[in-house]
This record gives sequence, C-alpha cells and structure tokens, in this order.
Amino acid sequence: MSDTALVWFRRDLRLADNPALHAAAKAHRKLVPVYIFAPDEESPWSIGAAGRWWLHCSLQALRAALRARGSDLILRRGPTLQVLTDIIHSERISHVYWNRLYEPKLLQQESNAKTALMRMGVQSRLFDGDMLRDPWSVLNKAGRPYQVFTPYWKALSREMVPEKPLPAPRSLPPVRPGLKKGRLNELGLLPANDWYRTFEDYWQPGEEGARRRQDYFVRKQFEHYDRMRDLPAEQATSTLSPHLHFGEITVRRLVFHLLQAKSRYPFGINKQIDAYLRQLGWREFSRYLLVHFPYSGEQPLKEQYRRFPWRRNIQADLQRWQQGLTGIPIVDAGMRELWATGWMHNRVRMIAASFLTKNLRIHWLEGARWFWDTLLDADLANNTMGWQWVAGCGADAAPYFRIFNPLTQAQKFDSTGEYIHKWVPELRTQTDRSAAGYPQPMVDLKTSREQALSAYRKLVGKQE
Ligand code: FAD
Repeated sequence: MSDTALVWFRRDLRLADNPALHAAAKAHRKLVPVYIFAPDEESPWSIGAAGRWWLHCSLQALRAALRARGSDLILRRGPTLQVLTDIIHSERISHVYWNRLYEPKLLQQESNAKTALMRMGVQSRLFDGDMLRDPWSVLNKAGRPYQVFTPYWKALSREMVPEKPLPAPRSLPPVRPGLKKGRLNELGLLPANDWYRTFEDYWQPGEEGARRRQDYFVRKQFEHYDRMRDLPAEQATSTLSPHLHFGEITVRRLVFHLLQAKSRYPFGINKQIDAYLRQLGWREFSRYLLVHFPYSGEQPLKEQYRRFPWRRNIQADLQRWQQGLTGIPIVDAGMRELWATGWMHNRVRMIAASFLTKNLRIHWLEGARWFWDTLLDADLANNTMGWQWVAGCGADAAPYFRIFNPLTQAQKFDSTGEYIHKWVPELRTQTDRSAAGYPQPMVDLKTSREQALSAYRKLVGKQE
C-alpha cells in the first residue's frame, strides 16, 4: 500500500499550528502539499480583487517556506475534485489531509471531496484549524443556535481551554521531482491594473508577516488596546485580520498566548486581554452564524427585513460613496483609506456602512460587495455579520432607530481630525467644508435619517 499523503491547503496558509500538516507529517513518509485555485466554487463570493493580491503573495511565502524544509507547494487551477483526482492517481495517494473551513460553500466542497475520496478508496482526515470550537457543539438550553453574541460568548468562554499551538515541522520529505509544480502566475491572481502596488507599503502577507505583526502588536500597542481601539488615528488594533482570514496565524495561537499572559501578568493587562478576546469572539460568532443560517450571506438574518424598501437607481450615489466623495469627511476618509491600504478601521467601517444603508438607504449587499472586492481581509462571515449588524437586520443588531450620526461620531472618535486630515488632506478640520474641490454633503443628514426611520417604522409597524 502507498504511504503518500496529500495535504490540501486552503485558507490555512501556514506551517505552524497547522493540524492537518502536522498529522500528515507524523504519519506518512511522503507528502504532496497542494493548493487548488477554484474561485467559481465559492460563487457568488469568489475571492475579490484585493484578496487575490494577498493570496498571490501568501502562496509565494508558503511555497518558499515549504521549499526551505525540503518540500514544495503544488499549484493548480481548476475544479477541486478533478485536480485532487489527477494528483491522487499520479502520486498514488492513500490519504488526503485538510483543515475545515466553516462557510456553507466550503463545507459543501469538503463533503463532495469526502464522498469522492471514499469512492476511490482514499482516506480523508479532517482537522479543526479555523475556529476555537466547532459550531455545532455550542447551543442554547433549548438546543438551538444562539443569535445574541453575549450569551454565545459566555457559553464559549466557559469551556475555552485552547490546546498548545503545534510547532512547524522542521523538515519535510521532497515531492517527486517529475511532478509538475505549477507556476504561481498561472493562477492569474494579480489584478490587471496595478492599484494593489500601494498595498506593498503596508503589508507583508504570509506567516512571517503575521508573526511580525503579532509581535509588534503585543510589544507596542496591546497595553492601550481597550482604551484606544475605537480611535482610527491611533493605529491601536492588531491589523491581523487579513492574516487571520488566510489562516497565516490561528485564533487558537492568539488565544493560547493571551490566556497564558492572563495567568502571568498583573490585573491591569487583563482588561486588554478580555477586550481582545472578545473581538476574536466576534470572529468566532460570525462563522457560527453563517453555519447555522447559511442563507444569511445573501439574505437578511431577520427574515422580516426582506421587505425593507431599499432605494432603487442608486448607481451614481453608490459610486460617490465608493470613491470617498460623499461630502461627509469621516466616511470619505474611511473609503479612501480602504482604497489606498485595502483595510479600514472597524469604527469607520461601521460609520461608512451606516451612512450607506441608513442615510442613503442603499441595500447592505451593495456595500458588502464593494468591501468584498477592496478589503484585503474580505471574509464572508465577518463581512456579512458586520453589514447586517449595521443595517439592523442581523443577529444582535442595534435597533433600527439607533442611527450613527457621522459628524458626532467623528467628533467623538477623531476629535483632533487627525484621521480625516490624513485621508482627506484637502480638509483642514473635520467641520471644514470649504476646501476647493471637496463636495457638498450628498444628503442632509437630518432629513435622510428621518426618511430611514420612517421606512423602518413602516416595516416594523406592518408586522405588529
Ligand atoms: P482587532 O481589533 O485587532 O481584532 C482582532 C481580530 O478580531 C480581527 O483581526 C478580526 O479577525 C476579529 N474582529 C475584530 N472585530 C471584529 C468584528 N467586529 N467582527 C468580526 N471579527 C472581528 N472583518 C474581517 O475580518 N473581514 C471583513 O470582511 C469584515 N467586514 C466588515 C464589514 C463591516 C461593515 C464591519 C462593521 C466590520 C467588518 N469586519 C470585517 C470586522 C472588523 O472591522 C475587522 O475585523 C477589524 O477592523 C480588523 O482589524 P484588526 O485586525 O486590527 O482588529
């Protein structure tokens, strides 16, 4: 019998704390690490333009890391099952190892792969690498999924004993020299225009980049996290989101270190640790929701919101929002930050999303699609939850009558105007609207707020 295992890399582009790789390396003499690019299988949420740039760089880094340990990364583009079958036959594979991902389309992909492998007499070995707990094991007393974050997080935290992260294998067996490795460029990941060039100033995709960011965050930013994390000018958050999305670092690793630190350090730091753990909890919750309510990637989680009267003929307004030309400084700053860096601060994401869905009454999916294409951390679960939360139709959402006022939000969270000035340099202060070329606000905030409230009231009233 053959003793060759295929390690199927997906969004787990790392060597350290990779349970599938770790187990395969322990159990088999020969390994074939494979990455398959099959974007159609995730449609309508096939990877966006910014994400493709990240994926290109991350695969490059992973391949280099595997080569440094004596192995390689086999790259293929095409239908997953077809590619797996071809390699299984040519390399006489007996086992396929992979880490689970909790998105409806990817769970389907896994299930198809498992069935096909079984028919071929090949063993599947699945591992948990992306979440702290599998989403089917956390249910409320009635045996149903939680829809509110706090009780979910309490239930999860009670039993949170993350295992020690696994080390990266020191060396790996070589892949067969005759096996075609595949060139990275053949995946066609890099966008046609070179808009992504500016990303290179801000990011280092790959496992090494993730570790550096984690170290920097722990050394320089962590002690202010709780106090500063809502202030976009302060750069006080970890910016680990794209690394987490592509699985270059695990939540398990982060949580393990945080809980260790909690037991070692004095009280002061515990507040920071709890605040950071809670954010990771939101990530966990978003995956949980998407698994239990798989329609929510496209439809409001609260079904009554399907009838919400979103505006039509919105193309021109949507474009102004996308380009950061709404005339509302904090919204424009966020949208320009996004375009330049592929990332936007969480507080500003909420403000920009609220402006789109409430003041402009444009469907949250339009915003979600733009974020999907331009965010480096574009993540179906987090993006869906974020947009639905702001639009008021998601789990745990703010009640419809709580509408952000972008001007007071800016005064509160960017009181010196530093953030706005950085991204909208033509404005001197956040209340300055006189700069040449800067547009007038595209809507009156008070009137548009009233209109949104009236639309929500009608919807809610109809159901009462
Ligand atoms: P930190 O504050 O350092 O938090 C650490 C990690 O916790 C993050 O990397 C992220 O994985 C997780 N996290 C933090 N806040 C949230 C949150 N509110 N929801 C879920 N997870 C969270 N996040 C994405 O990763 N991808 C998205 O596509 C995405 N779209 C969003 C869309 C909207 C409209 C909103 C309001 C939020 C969205 N978020 C998304 C959540 C959040 O804005 C980002 O995770 C966060 O800004 C990433 O920055 P950070 O890594 O510095 O966060």
